[in-house]
Amino acid sequence: MQLLEERIRKDGQIREGNVLKVDSFLNHQIDIDLCNEIGREFRRLFPGDRITKILTIEASGIGIACITAQYFHVPVVFAKKSQSINLDGDMYTAQVESYTHKRTYDVILSRKFLTEKDRVLIVDDFLANGCATAGLVELVHSAGAAVEGIGIVIEKGFQKGGRMLRERGIRVESLAIVEAMEPATGTITFRQQ
Ligand code: 5GP
Repeated sequence: MQLLEERIRKDGQIREGNVLKVDSFLNHQIDIDLCNEIGREFRRLFPGDRITKILTIEASGIGIACITAQYFHVPVVFAKKSQSINLDGDMYTAQVESYTHKRTYDVILSRKFLTEKDRVLIVDDFLANGCATAGLVELVHSAGAAVEGIGIVIEKGFQKGGRMLRERGIRVESLAIVEAMEPATGTITFRQQ
């Protein structure tokens, strides 16, 4: 997505540990016009009426998922990050290792909001090693629901998440795939799609 790549080049900041900071338009301050275009593009990539729900993870995924859902006219449900697993059995749970915070946490989702009838589009801001997204896939499978696809705003193509998920036969659509980031010069190279 040309508009997104241009914005990443202009405002993205390369940080230590292969972290791309996009706080000024996606992760802290949110550019709603850009988000609208992101939602429209996800809709173009996943046409038809199969999708019944959009699933994301708090916090950064929620805004993107909500704007995207306006193009699909389906509810958004988000997995919550939890310190301790609620053991009363009304939650699906999965373990996720945080890329940016380098720790493991549980994500939970109420059984009420995902059932075996659902066909789910998973949406998130970043795909790096794929832990967050794989955790969401696990929640969908726990519910007996189907993963229709995964929509990612920025994939870091030099990390293993995208390949791992695609090798599992899951359709992953990333609007920008970063192939390389050069901290010294600030150069960001994108995969041609
Ligand atoms: P993964 O689980 O795929 O390794 O990492 C995905 C999650 O980590 C995303 O939900 C995102 O919040 C965070 N993340 C991973 N890499 C980056 C990055 O380069 N920049 C930012 N801002 N977040 C990242």
